[in-house]
Amino acid sequence: MFDLDRFIRENIKNLIPYASARSEHSRKDEVFLDANENSMGDFSTMVEGFHPGMNRYPDPFQKVLKEKISGVKGVPTGNIFIGNGSDEAIDLIFRIFCSPGKDRVIICPPTYGMYEVIANINDVRVCKVNLDSRFQPDSKTIMESIDGQTKLIFLCSPNNPSGNLVNREIINRLAASFNGILVVDEAYIDFSGEKSLVEDLYSRPNVIILQTLSKAWAMAGLRIGMAFASKPIIDLFNKVKPPYNISTASQIMAIKALNNVGIKNQWLRTILIERDRLSCELSRISYVIRIYPSDANYILVRFSDHNQVYKALLENKIVVRDRSSYPGCEGCLRITIGTREENDRVLETLKRF
Ligand SMILES: *Cc1c(COP(=O)(O)O)cnc(C)c1O
Repeated sequence: MFDLDRFIRENIKNLIPYASARSEHSRKDEVFLDANENSMGDFSTMVEGFHPGMNRYPDPFQKVLKEKISGVKGVPTGNIFIGNGSDEAIDLIFRIFCSPGKDRVIICPPTYGMYEVIANINDVRVCKVNLDSRFQPDSKTIMESIDGQTKLIFLCSPNNPSGNLVNREIINRLAASFNGILVVDEAYIDFSGEKSLVEDLYSRPNVIILQTLSKAWAMAGLRIGMAFASKPIIDLFNKVKPPYNISTASQIMAIKALNNVGIKNQWLRTILIERDRLSCELSRISYVIRIYPSDANYILVRFSDHNQVYKALLENKIVVRDRSSYPGCEGCLRITIGTREENDRVLETLKRF
């Protein structure tokens, strides 16, 4: 039996959280003299067309936004945490479960660089078990690498930068056998042909699923990331998070934007068409060695001379991501799918080169 209590850092278990003024009383009360806000003025009156009430602190638990997300994702509100980007959720996971200088996390390169950076910021030792040649986790080596201090395993599916989904059986097997917290980052799941694992896994006692509004939902500027997990884990996030971590402006705009599932799906269709077209055109270029199949909104491409290609693109003011230093990604650039015009510009530059 998985015993969550054993995995919570001692100081977090004993923490008396900050009780914010707004978590104790509701909006229905009328005279708010509890939070040292400015009752005289409202910043929003200075910005045309902006929602009133900007002189007040935001809802610390983002009730309405969570109801909206719950409707879209099919997960109860009590199993949702909203962070200032998924990066905040990742940071909180380290702070809740890992004692600095003592505990360990397993990550599987090549993968999202922030897992290691945030581990380092929190002084948590990083154990790297590289993905295999097909960019799948090596579950045998992962299991052998787990020791008494291994509190977390991070998997990213679809994986950034390789673009592939992680084999579901491997995720399910790790979820069932790892006595620790398995984090599955689904930042790009909307671009994939497969269903999210969130509905299957959110109620497992040792699994956290991460998603974001930054990619498919086109809200990177609002900074809204989501963690889906069992109620006891969500309670820990709420205990540790800064009280007002999501601004009123972000909450209001995300609530409105989430009504437009149809528009998001239209964008998705266009992105997938462009992904196929770009892959297909790239495959005709002689110095393209390999195009990795993608379930995300980018493609990883191996070139015979990626440095020259990178430079040629830059000279045409096109910025892509050089991932050639990542294991298994020698000679590779990661290209985000742009608009049709932007993708054409990439292709023209490469064909001329
Ligand atoms: C972009 C990205 C995120 C970050 O999302 P934010 O919500 O914008 O912080 C998380 N995980 C992966 C793998 C990403 O590529």
